Amino acid sequence: MNNNKSGFALQQNGDLQYYTIPSFEQTGLVKHGFSTRLGGVSTGECSTLNLGFKKKDSREAVLENFKILTCAIGVDPHDLVFSDQVHKDGIAIVGVEDREKGIFKESDICEFDGLMTNEPRVALVTFYADCVPLFFLDPVQKVIALSHSGWRGTAARIGAKTIQKMHERYGTRMEDCLVGIGPSIGSCCFEVDLSVAEAFQNAFPQHPEIVTDGKRDKYYVDLWQANRLQLKDMGVPGENITIAGQCTCCHRDVFFSHRGDKGHTGSLAGILMLR
Ligand SMILES: [Zn+2]
Repeated sequence: MNNNKSGFALQQNGDLQYYTIPSFEQTGLVKHGFSTRLGGVSTGECSTLNLGFKKKDSREAVLENFKILTCAIGVDPHDLVFSDQVHKDGIAIVGVEDREKGIFKESDICEFDGLMTNEPRVALVTFYADCVPLFFLDPVQKVIALSHSGWRGTAARIGAKTIQKMHERYGTRMEDCLVGIGPSIGSCCFEVDLSVAEAFQNAFPQHPEIVTDGKRDKYYVDLWQANRLQLKDMGVPGENITIAGQCTCCHRDVFFSHRGDKGHTGSLAGILMLR
């Protein structure tokens, strides 16, 4: 994969590198970013910008990393709201009363892979190391969502369910919605067994191109296309969907990769907030 040609835009601030979505930036409505592993203070397998408290890292280092990243993005760490992801398709609606949950306060937002709000200064945070980050912005109704779409979430169509919930709850029209599909494991590296390949063939019978044959009994699944196509099928125009196109597993120097680092790795994060 060519890492230089990304649909997302690289932002650099000293040693810190993170990505933004040009179409989101152009609205002027949000502060947002997707982290890399570069520019933080963590050491060892979490080197250097680990954002996961459950990793082999100190709480102090993770808090410092959040400070570095949120300062660059322009978000107050006290406005952050964390998800608690379980590879399912639940989406929680959150608001100002949920700020600090997961970072400075104990969280009661349990078993949700997606977060959604229409309130300003509520910074949604979801975590990654190969799974697919889905950023949503409805610039008309001013609603945002951020969903963690691993292979299970992708097959369960959490992306389509997120935009459906934006429609039901806030009146979002599919044609207005902007979507960013962030850095995550590409089809180049997402080799799977028959059971996973079949899960995708069953979930997307109209899109057989999502699964390709690999060596012997192995297959490759294209999670970026599986997410893009389920959103297009919902009515989101293709030109509204930006794919970063960067494989986290191919670029372990830049990103944490669960598969690439054989489980010994840190956490990346997506952050999205209405101004
Ligand atoms: Zn790859």
